[in-house]
Amino acid sequence: MSKILSEMKKHLEENKEIGDLKVGALLALGHQLEAIFYYLGHELGTILNVKRIKEVKDIPEELKSIIPKYNIGDIIITESTDEIISLKLKGHSSSKDLIGKDIKSKGNFCSFEAGMLAGIVERMSNAHCFAQEVNCGLQTGGEACEFMIVFQKD
Ligand SMILES: [Zn+2]
Repeated sequence: MSKILSEMKKHLEENKEIGDLKVGALLALGHQLEAIFYYLGHELGTILNVKRIKEVKDIPEELKSIIPKYNIGDIIITESTDEIISLKLKGHSSSKDLIGKDIKSKGNFCSFEAGMLAGIVERMSNAHCFAQEVNCGLQTGGEACEFMIVFQKD
């Protein structure tokens, strides 16, 4: 990052364009941006109105009602145990305008939704959890992204 900034400074001093360097800086920020989007999604997830769920096994059913209610996307639960919930999501805000347009992401792109899923499930279950996008449609070329929600054991 600092290398890009000093390069930018040099370009400014030499009266050259810095357009490409701005894109470079954005890419270098990738991981920090992911964390920021996750945080943002998580904060949003925790203020949505969800039901308190006593049994972990009942969480998938409630997710299937909450996700469409807030127009977050189309959800398919693929696996659910006491420790994890795996699901597919499509039509969500991070990817819906990009999918099918030949834009490929290198990493997992939808950290906003991952954070939101974690926030929603935490709110429902009152237990800490973490969510991760395990396969992004923008990477795989599929139309759905796959997420895994993991309950943290104390
Ligand atoms: Zn994705």
